Amino acid sequence: MARSLEELASPFLKGLIPYTPGKPVEEVERELGITGAIKLASNENPLGPSPLALRALREALPESHRYPDGGGYYLKRGLADRLGVTPEHLILGNGCNEVMDLMARCFLLPGDEVVIADPAFVIYGMLAHVQGCNKVLVPLKGWTHDLEAMAKAVTPKTKMIFVGNPNNPTGTAVMPAEIATFMNAIPEEVIVVIDEAYIEYVPPELVPDSLSYIRQGRWVIVLRTFSKIYGLAGLRIGYGIASPSMVELLNRVRAPFNVNALAQRAALAALDDQHHVASSRKINELGKGYLFAELDRLGLHSPPSAANFLLVDLKRDGQAVAEALLRMGVIVRPLGGPYLTTHIRVSIGTPPENERFIEALKTVLQS
Ligand SMILES: *Cc1c(COP(=O)(O)O)cnc(C)c1O
Repeated sequence: MARSLEELASPFLKGLIPYTPGKPVEEVERELGITGAIKLASNENPLGPSPLALRALREALPESHRYPDGGGYYLKRGLADRLGVTPEHLILGNGCNEVMDLMARCFLLPGDEVVIADPAFVIYGMLAHVQGCNKVLVPLKGWTHDLEAMAKAVTPKTKMIFVGNPNNPTGTAVMPAEIATFMNAIPEEVIVVIDEAYIEYVPPELVPDSLSYIRQGRWVIVLRTFSKIYGLAGLRIGYGIASPSMVELLNRVRAPFNVNALAQRAALAALDDQHHVASSRKINELGKGYLFAELDRLGLHSPPSAANFLLVDLKRDGQAVAEALLRMGVIVRPLGGPYLTTHIRVSIGTPPENERFIEALKTVLQS
């Protein structure tokens, strides 16, 4: 054969490295021949799904031979009521990751510039890369988005800006007033993606009124998910809030049945269980306080987290520590890249999980 398969693929796949997710517990146990591993690697809710969501799932199971409602009628109505928007402002996705993907396929063309903080959620850069865009990386300042520098990085070629708030993997949130100043500085023709996957964990005084920009008619999409505080990561469901005209464009590229029926039913039930959300926030705050105090005692530092995970500077090779923790059945996320070679990201678990992490970390650091 004269041509390789890769030559037939999009030229923009060159240099693209597949995303490495946190390993599932079963996989780690199988590989290491251990049991009782704990996963603190993917920022999942350690309390699990809401009991109301579980009941809705059981009730929905016998209808599994039916295609889902492709328009997500009931869930969109539930979300619209809660958010004070109309169902036409909402797009559902197979995780909010899919909504990001739809944004990229809809709007990003080769040669466009995409402004991204560094380090931020790696998916942003991958989406820009696969569309043949030029990534404009703006270093964080004090572990948080440098919104002033990001606004200054805008050129006539800028198509899209990603703002993760709170940012992953640092956990930091920007001040609401900084978002307001930033939005004033951004030209109206630039699309702003505000990723609020962790917003339900954020203290009220740090929650910006990001939906106000959509009401003003700005080209903003706010992303939210049921994967984090709502505890439904395995079902894959998230959503975007944007102007009806942006949603209409996204619907043109969306697969007809992108969100499965069980996910829709569970999400609607989970939305109604704000008691579970409140308990999840509470156990997270408790765990955060404990972890900060214990890490401090070990002389280790983390940026202030507004989310359900901490970025920890180990002051030694993060990958090696993560591997040693893994052998002890504690799964955390090594990071790497130019800024984070000595860091790991650890999700806040239940109190016993947090204690087990700290004990394992002490053992590893002593050896
Ligand atoms: C977890 C996460 C998401 C959510 O992804 P889903 O596809 O909804 O599971 C989005 N953005 C960031 C920054 C995240 O950490």
